[in-house]
Amino acid sequence: MMAKLTTFEAGYCTHLACMAQKGAGWNICKFPARTWLIEVGSKRWLWDTGYADYFYQSTQTGIFKFYRKLTPVYLQQQESMKMQFLALGIDLASIDAIILSHFHGDHIAGLRDFPKSKFICSGEGWQKMRLLRGFSALRHGFVPNLIPPDFEQRLTFVESFAQSALPQQLWPFTDGYELPQSHQQVFIVPLPGHASGHIGAFVQTDQGWTLLASDAAWTPANYQQLKSPSRLAHLVMENPRAYYQTLRNLQLLSRQSQVNICLSHEGYI
Ligand SMILES: [Zn+2]
Repeated sequence: MMAKLTTFEAGYCTHLACMAQKGAGWNICKFPARTWLIEVGSKRWLWDTGYADYFYQSTQTGIFKFYRKLTPVYLQQQESMKMQFLALGIDLASIDAIILSHFHGDHIAGLRDFPKSKFICSGEGWQKMRLLRGFSALRHGFVPNLIPPDFEQRLTFVESFAQSALPQQLWPFTDGYELPQSHQQVFIVPLPGHASGHIGAFVQTDQGWTLLASDAAWTPANYQQLKSPSRLAHLVMENPRAYYQTLRNLQLLSRQSQVNICLSHEGYI
């Protein structure tokens, strides 16, 4: 039994191209907010939520207005994951869990649209974010209001999952957390540096292994040629040293295997 992966885009924001890749110029580029539906048998997980209306609502006033200024967001009403799933006839309650790659607003804005789903994230990451408010939250790209009130009751940490050795072709990644009930088709791996508790997942599909690498890089050039993002982008990075180590690991992976690496925002530079 293999996993099935379906890619979605739930809105986008705009940045200067050179934010994602030094030297890429001053033109304004679209950074789509991607999500993935992962299915194994009758189980369904959603990898991140992309943007949703709550992002607008929660960044309208106070200090979080700066978030919107920094990353102007474009989202048509029918583009939120809730509306896309409804249009496809996918019952929202059939999404067993939403896996959060990290806590930036463009990855968690739609959580409140899934009142029946469980949540999965890095415990280390959540411990760092859960009490942040005001400026210290904003600095971490975290909008506390996007978190549903009963979030913690519905939450499981990846650190509680069984750890297992990964297939050899996924080197330099050697072990991961096995997503329960995925029949060893989905392994979650830490991809540290970009944000607290930042994770990715190896998913085995008919076409081979795919790595959902979230924001570990913004464009393939970041890891293929180790082209850095801008100095300015370093300001929003949790740990630049860990970020570059993760990029080098992605580079090694891409050089010696057929793994398809998917980035959340890679797009239109
Ligand atoms: Zn991010």
